[in-house]
Amino acid sequence: MRDLQLEINFAKHGNRFRDALNRGEFVLLIENASPGRDNDPAASAERLAALESAVLGIEGVNAALAITDRYHNLDVWRAAEYASALSPENRDRHVIYLSGRDTTPEEVHNLATIAANAGNCNIVPVTGSAVPGDTVRDCRRRTFTESVEILRMLGNGTGDVGFFTGATVNPFQYTPYTLMGQYFKLVKKINSGASFIVTQAGWDMLKLQSLRWYFIGRSLFYPMIARLVLLTPDKVERILAGEYPGINISSDFRKILEKELHYSVNQFEAAQLRRLELQAAGCRLLGYSGIQLAGAELPGRAKIAAERIAGALREFTSFEQWIEEYNSYLAQTEMAPYDSSFYLYDCMLRRPYPEKGMPEPHDIGESKISGGEKFGFLLRRFLFAHADRQRAANGRLLKKLLAGCRTCARCRLPLTQFVCTENCPKRLSNGPCGGVRPRGECELGGGECVHSRIVRMAHWSGTLQKLEDIFPGSGREGI
Ligand code: SF4
Repeated sequence: MRDLQLEINFAKHGNRFRDALNRGEFVLLIENASPGRDNDPAASAERLAALESAVLGIEGVNAALAITDRYHNLDVWRAAEYASALSPENRDRHVIYLSGRDTTPEEVHNLATIAANAGNCNIVPVTGSAVPGDTVRDCRRRTFTESVEILRMLGNGTGDVGFFTGATVNPFQYTPYTLMGQYFKLVKKINSGASFIVTQAGWDMLKLQSLRWYFIGRSLFYPMIARLVLLTPDKVERILAGEYPGINISSDFRKILEKELHYSVNQFEAAQLRRLELQAAGCRLLGYSGIQLAGAELPGRAKIAAERIAGALREFTSFEQWIEEYNSYLAQTEMAPYDSSFYLYDCMLRRPYPEKGMPEPHDIGESKISGGEKFGFLLRRFLFAHADRQRAANGRLLKKLLAGCRTCARCRLPLTQFVCTENCPKRLSNGPCGGVRPRGECELGGGECVHSRIVRMAHWSGTLQKLEDIFPGSGREGI
């Protein structure tokens, strides 16, 4: 990988997005997805310019854009290309995403160079979700360059020159293994150079607080941005149909959304805006540094949403005042998707921070591992303890029988609890994607997420904390 720093031509006024986070200013990022390639580029650039001008003109909150990359669709402009249409003097205020889906490391390098040359210095790498309708087999045929790998390529941009990179996380996980898998992977991303954090979209404020507490408890003070969604009836229908990977809602919240679908257009919009106000104000009082808002892509809608958010930030100045209103608005709505959902702490949403130091997180409980799994682990450890230092072809038949080996060029079994990560449909080796289902099943179906299994195994073998320090790399390069 060539040195990206040599090619960078960032704006001379530095990085106003990073500076705002460092000053503790609450930021609002209005999300905009890059358009399809079948759109007229000039018309798309004009639309983006109109949105940018509306967003930068918002008063009362520090607003800018977040341009997402290959979020769902296939044939779209890459965010790095599309963001070149932003006004040159303001590119340091915006954030662009860089998806690893269908993108080789060389293509990542090219896109990063485009971003750097254009002066787009704030980048959030993501691995990318499966394309709607993809089967496991379709997904396996795609190339996914992992967010952790991309972060390591981009390097740590903490100086005057360089990328300022972010990391995404899905805190809305409800088994101990999927939750800890997300947290461990986030630490790995921070260790790979990420300087701020953006969450997956969700409505469970306990989970947003839990993420804050966990990182504060570990003295990891990184600015966090909560992704919120201003819903439309169409989006609600799609959430209820489970079309958004990683957005897991409870049956109580599902009932609320179903009820709102029967409201008049104005009542529906009013309900969404009030929920957004409460969530945004709550995020700030819980210590979040900003929000990234999806669903407000038109200039008029973005302006209305931003004004309502700015009003809520003025309205709620204390946690006590906010929690009273929040509780009365959502009454006793249960946000956990099932009864035994796992939360890391007790007593959340009673105060923004614990009064007497951070509480100890809950133990993640007894190891849930069967006798057969124990035997299989011990056997694989006995047979393949040094497989990462041997030729990948060594003992391939045994690896196939005992670990479901998929014949990659580099064996990493000893680094992944002797679970073959090539069995993840996206072939991720550094931790789970954000699409894991509520009970720990893979986003694409077909049983437990490979990384939930790795966390379970690591818990049983007493090597849980090591998960955030190991970078198994991809199976592409052989030895
Ligand atoms: S196995 Fe886990 S990480 Fe891989 S695609 Fe499925 S949910 Fe995502």
